[in-house]
Amino acid sequence: MSTNGSISFSLSAEHEDIQRLARDFARNEIAPVAEHYDKTHEYPWPVVKKAQELGLTTMNTPEAYGGLGLTMFEECLVSEELAWGCSGISTAIGVNSLGMLPILIGGSEAQKTEYGNRMGDGELCAYCVTEPEAGSDVSGIATTAVKQGDVYTLNGSKTFITGAINANFYTVLAYTSPDLRGTKNRYKGMSFFVVERDWEGVSVGKPFEKLGQHASDTAEVIFDNVQVPATHLLGEEGKGFLYAMKVFDHSRPSVAAGAVGVAQRALDEAIKYAKERYSMGQPIWQHQAIGHMIADMAIQVEAARLLVWKAAWSVDSGARNTTAAAFAKAYAADMAMKVCVDAVQVFGGYGYMSEYPVEKLMRDIKIYQIYEGTSQIQRNIIMRELFR
Ligand SMILES: Cc1cc2nc3c(=O)[nH]c(=O)nc-3n(C[C@H](O)[C@H](O)[C@H](O)COP(=O)(O)OP(=O)(O)OC[C@H]3O[C@@H](n4cnc5c(N)ncnc54)[C@H](O)[C@@H]3O)c2cc1C
Repeated sequence: MSTNGSISFSLSAEHEDIQRLARDFARNEIAPVAEHYDKTHEYPWPVVKKAQELGLTTMNTPEAYGGLGLTMFEECLVSEELAWGCSGISTAIGVNSLGMLPILIGGSEAQKTEYGNRMGDGELCAYCVTEPEAGSDVSGIATTAVKQGDVYTLNGSKTFITGAINANFYTVLAYTSPDLRGTKNRYKGMSFFVVERDWEGVSVGKPFEKLGQHASDTAEVIFDNVQVPATHLLGEEGKGFLYAMKVFDHSRPSVAAGAVGVAQRALDEAIKYAKERYSMGQPIWQHQAIGHMIADMAIQVEAARLLVWKAAWSVDSGARNTTAAAFAKAYAADMAMKVCVDAVQVFGGYGYMSEYPVEKLMRDIKIYQIYEGTSQIQRNIIMRELFR
């Protein structure tokens, strides 16, 4: 896929190299231990450490700041491959790129250098926006950061935070002008901060028990009178909501690529099984109902991949990608959910059993329709852009 303006659907040699690196990592390091982490719900430390050695936790951080410096397109190639191996483990790895985004978008040179290099040296981070009363409605957050002198006092709690348990620092959205909350100017009242895990007043809840992605921890992060030096404000005060929206433009193609990876895995497993399993004297794929179902799965996976590539290309070429990212995220997530359900159907009764791979895929994929903006919110965005 060319990212320099000319149209080509074949990957460049560089793209193939990074795709191969991620594919090998997914097949050799992730897939063999996926079942273990799914069953134990442990954090996949050994895999994350190896991913750090390859730079996969700093994919989007430029080399100048200690990261791998991938383009959006390359990041999507990697995300698809890692999610093929296990989307729980790939989320545990990929969330670090999400956590870094507010720093890369709004941060000063000094902040990018410090936090980029700390990530390059093996630290982890998490992205804290959602709250118990506000998920889709980002401006509904209640966390406040009130300034006195050179210090902000941060109070509030964030929930469903991926990677919260082991993160060394958090990027946190809070109201710096709490009086604007609930008014038409609320979007100008929020700011992003980088907050250290070991500061007094920062605490993390127990990991939530959840349907899938057991290798990726999800927990509450509580800020109780945390004293945040003004040097930890990211960018300008009042620009936090804008930065959060810019984060989505970058994070959604990558999340959508992960959904494609899970769907590709479901397709691969379905094809393999449909060749091995016989009924009425023939392999089940030769029953047209099953063969067509698998053909439909393949069409949808390919269509979603192209939407992801277009959304990623838009970012790399500097074009506005809000609609393209919403197309990719909505379609890839919904498609992958359906493809995983269909894969379970191809497996029949065995598909329902946890000793076969598609049961896990069906549990893991559901979250893609929820995080980084639900499928409904993506449609709201598309609708808004269409009727602008
Ligand atoms: C496993 C997991 C990991 C997560 N990781 C993170 C993380 O690392 N950092 C972070 O900040 N957040 C994270 N989240 C939060 C996630 O982004 C939110 O759950 C998501 O944005 C939805 O918000 P909500 O749960 O409050 O649902 P709500 O916003 O309450 O929505 C409930 C339902 O109503 C629908 N709905 C709401 N508003 C509208 C509307 N205007 N139009 C149409 N339908 C609407 C939604 O689509 C949904 O179906 C995570 C969530 C989960 C479950």
